[in-house]
Amino acid sequence: MKIPQPLSEDRIKGKSAILGNIMAVRVVAETLKTTLGPKGMDKMILTGSKEVAITDRGASILSLIDIRHPVARMLVEAAKAQDTETGDGTTSVVVLAGELLKKAEELLVQGLHPATIVEGYRIALDEVKRYLEEASLPVEDGMLLDLATTMLMGKVGEDEARYLAKIAVDAVKIAGDKDNVKVLHRPGGSLKDTHLVRGMIIDLGKRVHPSMPKRVKGARILLVDTEFAVHDVNNAKVELMDPARMRAFKEYKSKVLRVAVNMIKASGANVVLCQKNIEDLAMFFLAQEGILGVRDVERDVLELLAKATGGRIVSNVRDIDHGSLGYASLVEEGKIGLEEIMYVTGCRNPKAAAILVRGGSENTALEVSKRLESLISTLARVLRDKRCLPGGGACEIELARRLRTFAPSVNGKPQLGVFAFADALEVIPRYLADNAGMDPLTLLPMLRAKHEAGRVSYGLDLRDREIKDVRKTGILESLPAKKHAIVSASELAEMILKIDEVILARGLEKESPAPQPPVQAPSAFPEAMDFPAKGGKIDFKQLMM
Ligand code: ADP
Ligand code: MG
Repeated sequence: MKIPQPLSEDRIKGKSAILGNIMAVRVVAETLKTTLGPKGMDKMILTGSKEVAITDRGASILSLIDIRHPVARMLVEAAKAQDTETGDGTTSVVVLAGELLKKAEELLVQGLHPATIVEGYRIALDEVKRYLEEASLPVEDGMLLDLATTMLMGKVGEDEARYLAKIAVDAVKIAGDKDNVKVLHRPGGSLKDTHLVRGMIIDLGKRVHPSMPKRVKGARILLVDTEFAVHDVNNAKVELMDPARMRAFKEYKSKVLRVAVNMIKASGANVVLCQKNIEDLAMFFLAQEGILGVRDVERDVLELLAKATGGRIVSNVRDIDHGSLGYASLVEEGKIGLEEIMYVTGCRNPKAAAILVRGGSENTALEVSKRLESLISTLARVLRDKRCLPGGGACEIELARRLRTFAPSVNGKPQLGVFAFADALEVIPRYLADNAGMDPLTLLPMLRAKHEAGRVSYGLDLRDREIKDVRKTGILESLPAKKHAIVSASELAEMILKIDEVILARGLEKESPAPQPPVQAPSAFPEAMDFPAKGGKIDFKQLMM
């Protein structure tokens, strides 16, 4: 393949434009392909002079590296949307889009018009959507745990994957959705010290008064979102200069706060969690009454606390009644490393939960917490949708087989596009095998033969490095995530194939081209662009010339 040359400095036309754009996507896909699947490798990204991130999570890699090519950026956007929408399949989107465009490029070089390829891809995508619905499996008991484990497999050890998967499944069953699960991470301990709280965790910092109780059993919790303080409405300076006025104000303040604390006590509350400040004197009065007070609780945590404890957030002590109090069987201070946290546990029928992720290093704990957040959003969708798919490439092999059977019914040249789509789908099992050090050239024909014989859930089980009925061995994937991944990869490929001219808008500053090494022979471009690119950057400028 020849690197396309621009017609002039600010216009790239026709095939050159398409081929240039295709190459930009393929470079990103080449970068991510080695991370696909449980045996995928990690990328080490230098994010600052001393900071390093190590991850194989597609969304994390793409958000950290500096990608400038406009079309490659669109791919990044598509991958991010995949992550926020479905929580899984970011690497698959990128790899699949790259492969769809690689196949399109081969057809372009053979002389097929881009519009014909687009037509073929569209026909194929419609079929794929239909097949996916047909091939989906109903989610039965235990399958949710298998699906969660598959998503974590390879990212952490197998034992840990199952342990964390169970936590995520329990959390989603309690909370229903990602928004109702607070995931915190703290370095230290091991991944197996990660735990689920059927209630909430509050980050404490400096917020507890020394004389407060540290532990309250049978907590009746008041949730407040206004400041618990009394201010002098007059000029503070005058107040300071006039000792009599100052004394009077202090007495007044003390009286008001005392009344407020008495009202809280009368309501039966023994824990007060406040979004704003609780002034020291109020803290003191609360402590005197044996009431635990926490100030500066974040708004989102306060809302989750309301869901977890069944309480209602109030803005004025006058609004407190028995029904506004939340309940937790235990509120207790704890320590993680040097930081204080507060556990609110044993809630009755909680609608929110918290997960505290521990890990050997900040990097591990952070990555796992992001993975758990994605996992929870995927699980929430699967719980609603109740369908999943066989993983390990089984579904892609089956889709490809069905497309190849269907293709001859398509008249004319778009048929070639349908065949190309089928070939592109097989990139997933191919890289899964490749990344595990297995030979795709042997395995893919074996898999195709199994599927031809009607064994539709045969795929790669990379735990045992064998071809197996992955439905039985529990390698499962989410239907919404898979569908979204294939649809957005294909839409992106279509969009790129339809751009026949790249024009720099007038007034757009052209970046002065840094001295570049000559572009390598095309077959070597993945190596030329390989990680670690300096400063975490992939330079697409040479593709943009
Ligand atoms: P993505 O970002 O696209 O989710 P992953 O790195 O999470 O990429 O890899 C997902 C792929 O790995 C899926 O195709 C899934 O079926 C496959 N996979 C996960 N666990 C296994 C396993 N134990 N054996 C075979 N394939 C697996
Ligand atoms: Mg995944």
